[in-house]
Amino acid sequence: MQRTPLIAANWKMNGSAALVEEMTSALAGVATEQIQVLICPPATLLCRFTAPINFALGGQTLSHEVSGAFTGELSAALLIEAGASYVIVGHSERRSLNAESDQLIAAKLMRAVVSGLTPVLCVGETLQQRQQEKTQQVIARQLDAVYASQPELLAKSVIAYEPVWAIGTGESATPEQAQQTHAFIRQHLAQYDAKAAEKVKLLYGGSVNADNCAALFKQADIDGALVGGASLKAAEFAQICSSA
Ligand code: PGA
Repeated sequence: MQRTPLIAANWKMNGSAALVEEMTSALAGVATEQIQVLICPPATLLCRFTAPINFALGGQTLSHEVSGAFTGELSAALLIEAGASYVIVGHSERRSLNAESDQLIAAKLMRAVVSGLTPVLCVGETLQQRQQEKTQQVIARQLDAVYASQPELLAKSVIAYEPVWAIGTGESATPEQAQQTHAFIRQHLAQYDAKAAEKVKLLYGGSVNADNCAALFKQADIDGALVGGASLKAAEFAQICSSA
């Protein structure tokens, strides 16, 4: 990896105050001079990270609005006040379960950057799209929706390639499959800003675990991982971080 690796945890609607403590101590033993680690717990747990930590915190989504009468929503400012410096944007579960459109995701990503949060933009194809050989087309559309009109946001972003068929299924993309798509993403992004495309961190996500992470991290365009299920086991997540 030529770029500083970033290993990110997406706890989704899981975790507890107890896991906050377990994770804090498990990661205390991980050398974080050469890598960056990010934990995205449910927003209610952000303030529970009270002990000194050697990792960053992030939200799992945010509102594109600044503030106001939006019951249940979370603004960038609230996330920052709770300790977040990153936020996941456009996770496939938000796209499918919350009907988040490419346009809404673009607005959220802009709000994150303008507010000082680093967005982790998730892109990826479904199994059906892959079988129809539409992987590149789908990902290009998801990237274009954000960066075609706002190319300056690329330099402030992290991008996670998460094939939907690999999320939570135990069936990770092979290192070759992931590398192929990462190379495509970097090449596609170069048309907006070649320098930023070279520097942007491209994380792989989808059934990453302690056994398969090392082979993924060896790939030239894989700069880390976005980890769901395996990030709920503090010892395993610490092991993944140490493999980067
Ligand atoms: P998984 O989830 O590691 O459980 O597949 C990854 C994600 O959804 O970010």
